[in-house]
Amino acid sequence: MLNTIGFYGNPYTKYATYQEFADSLSETGAEIEDLGVGEDGEKHLYGLKHGDTENKPVFFIDADCHGSEWQSSHFSKEFMRRIVNREYHNKPLMDAIVNTFAFYCVVSTNPWGYENNDYLNFNGVNLNRNTDQRWEQATVGEGTINYKGTEPFSELESQIVRDKTYELKPFFAVNVHTTNGEKGGIDTGKVFRDYRSLLLDVYHSCNLSVAKELGGTQEWSVGYSPTFTGFYGNQISKEGTPTIPTILEAQADQTDFDYGLSSLFVLAIYMYYFYKTGVHQIVDIEDVMKIVESDNSHSEQKTK
Ligand SMILES: [Zn+2]
Repeated sequence: MLNTIGFYGNPYTKYATYQEFADSLSETGAEIEDLGVGEDGEKHLYGLKHGDTENKPVFFIDADCHGSEWQSSHFSKEFMRRIVNREYHNKPLMDAIVNTFAFYCVVSTNPWGYENNDYLNFNGVNLNRNTDQRWEQATVGEGTINYKGTEPFSELESQIVRDKTYELKPFFAVNVHTTNGEKGGIDTGKVFRDYRSLLLDVYHSCNLSVAKELGGTQEWSVGYSPTFTGFYGNQISKEGTPTIPTILEAQADQTDFDYGLSSLFVLAIYMYYFYKTGVHQIVDIEDVMKIVESDNSHSEQKTK
């Protein structure tokens, strides 16, 4: 069993303005891409990139499509910083994961919402209803919290995420939110200070959608309306497999345990194991470490 010290710490102790947040992205050491402006015509969306996205399977993150969930931008940024710097309590595991995947993170897909602490975007659209999956099933609801916009991808922010997805063809994509451990969320409770419990809990609560041909289900986390999770699930990765999507509804409280950050790590471990073995459940971390050992000794031999 691994200890979980590396998972602790809260990277979002205070709200920063969007500009302050954008200026801080260089702290990560990741390559920063300016993805253009959102519907307000002012604030830019940014991508953080690490690794060879053309040749390695891509681990893709989009955060903060609901702008008031701005904490998701902070812990996603922190995840990327630790990935780039291989800052982690278990170096062999980290090395294996970072050697295997390339990482890409759109840190806020709703900068106007971030700045104004607004769930919706500048036009009052719920960006997570502005995709082409199950479009007809969504209620239009202009002026409500589920307003889907005038057509699929009517919003610049949604177009940016869509086009980046088409370009990168991710192996895995996670649509990151924050809630307070409601249904479908991460709510492990602080009693679970043990890696194995956390891992299983994340597995059960993340609603990972694994394509039928890979032995899983294709029930998206939100089955009744358009979502980015659903959109991702309809894509094919550049490896030729259906993109594995999930939604992360992480805790948004500002206590000493950051569920969002830890859950992204757990998802990365999960994806690594799945990519290597085709098995989409981890029951014992030692099974992962066996793969890590042979993987790392293999890559050492290659460099000799
Ligand atoms: Zn949300």
